[in-house]
Amino acid sequence: SKRGRLDQFVARALQVSKKAVRQLLINNHILVDGTVAKSPDLQIDEFSHIVCNDVVLQQHQKQYYMLNKPDGVVSATIDDKHPTALSLLKGINPAMLHIAGRLDLHSTGLLLITNDAKWSATLMAPDHKVAKQYIVTLAHPISDDYIEAFAKGMYFAFENITTQPAQLTMLSAHQARVVLREGKYHQIKRMFGRFRNPVVALHRESIGGITLDNTLLPGEYRVLTQAEVDCII
Ligand code: URA
Repeated sequence: SKRGRLDQFVARALQVSKKAVRQLLINNHILVDGTVAKSPDLQIDEFSHIVCNDVVLQQHQKQYYMLNKPDGVVSATIDDKHPTALSLLKGINPAMLHIAGRLDLHSTGLLLITNDAKWSATLMAPDHKVAKQYIVTLAHPISDDYIEAFAKGMYFAFENITTQPAQLTMLSAHQARVVLREGKYHQIKRMFGRFRNPVVALHRESIGGITLDNTLLPGEYRVLTQAEVDCII
């Protein structure tokens, strides 16, 4: 889970300076998981129970964003080679945020980012089978054979799994729409790999009832509407 500094969290929750938080700590006014906290750099996460002067601070606003992930951005919190998806959320403290359903480095499109661990767990739960829709561009022409192979499922010896039925629709000789209800490691690339057909571009259009806003340029994001948040649960 995502971790962050106690002083940063309290300063944000109470809209006070970190200096003011230090004073609260000195006066033993802050409890973390029932224990008086002393140190401003104590590491906390989304499950920490934080109380200041008898007020529970963990009732922070739930946050939900959609990002149009650009090529070359990693779906991770920290990376020393590439910019991270969370760093694109300008002015938003990434400490408590996490990505619900990663995309590969070169994949683009809908990425959901939240601090609501329950919501993202529901979204990603294997038994929930939320449909994820992708536009895939291939190096070589595709044919009707692909449709049946994707629908039947493919066996992968490495994990000893057979993929769930996936829908493939041909959009043109080199482009298909694919709907998955699971997300195995590099799944789409590996499925097309069965046909020795490299994926040139992979773009996620939607997750369940949440569709990437077509007004968002690569790298842009917006807050989810209440209807979008609710459609997952
Ligand atoms: N399948 C892949 O191979 N990559 C992604 O980013 C998503 C699905």
